[in-house]
Amino acid sequence: MVAEAAVTAREVSKSFFMGRQAVPALSKVSLEVPAGTMTALIGPSGSGKSTLLHLIAGLESVESGELEVLRRSVHTCGQAELAALRLREIGFVYQDFSLIADLTLAENVRLPLEGAGVARKQAHEAACDAMARVGLSGLEDRFPAEVSGGQQQRASIARAIVGERKLVLADEPTGSLDSKTGAEIMDILGGLRDDGVTVVLSTHNPTNLSYADQIAELSDGALVSVTERTGSGERG
Ligand code: ADP
Ligand code: MG
Repeated sequence: MVAEAAVTAREVSKSFFMGRQAVPALSKVSLEVPAGTMTALIGPSGSGKSTLLHLIAGLESVESGELEVLRRSVHTCGQAELAALRLREIGFVYQDFSLIADLTLAENVRLPLEGAGVARKQAHEAACDAMARVGLSGLEDRFPAEVSGGQQQRASIARAIVGERKLVLADEPTGSLDSKTGAEIMDILGGLRDDGVTVVLSTHNPTNLSYADQIAELSDGALVSVTERTGSGERG
């Protein structure tokens, strides 16, 4: 059985311009992420991991090549279609959690749904469901500063899956956490993958790779290796 692809990149390239000088960030990257799997992007700082995640999220435009995300051709999508995809179907988790300090955890988690026009009561119920999935029941009314870093990252994962979205992109999600808390966050991301969510994350932490089904290594913007892992469900 061949799993459907959640993400397919074909020779995707991206440069940033510093004045007139083009700085290549990604060069002809081709990668397939099967739905319901976890892919880890590794490589040194500046190798293009964040750029690839931003392209998949529609936060940056594709310069050349083809990029299909959840059956949409994002390289030809208009801004409105990309925004709708981001608001309704893709979650993004940042290293620094990126929660809004003066909103409660539940208000933060329901933000993407409210942005997508879902009524507040329904958005709140979905936020509570998402928080329960990451072990945050009972903390809905806390503010980010009133919980630990690990709990803030759980809230940020809840915001990424709220409303049953199926693709979570996480840019160094354990990079600001101690190793024990980082392992708890990876357990949550691994559990979501086991429930059918597609996860693509970047990481510098070799321990995190034991959770991945596929490891894609970038160097100077080029994909230098893709390693399939078997038995990623068994760890410890
Ligand atoms: P990584 O996440 O692996 O550290 P990045 O994707 O952030 O790598 O960066 C890849 C390359 O693209 C680097 O050379 C970086 O300096 C450059 N780059 C990334 N974002 C921008 C930007 N917004 N403007 C200019 N250059 C950028
Ligand atoms: Mg980065």
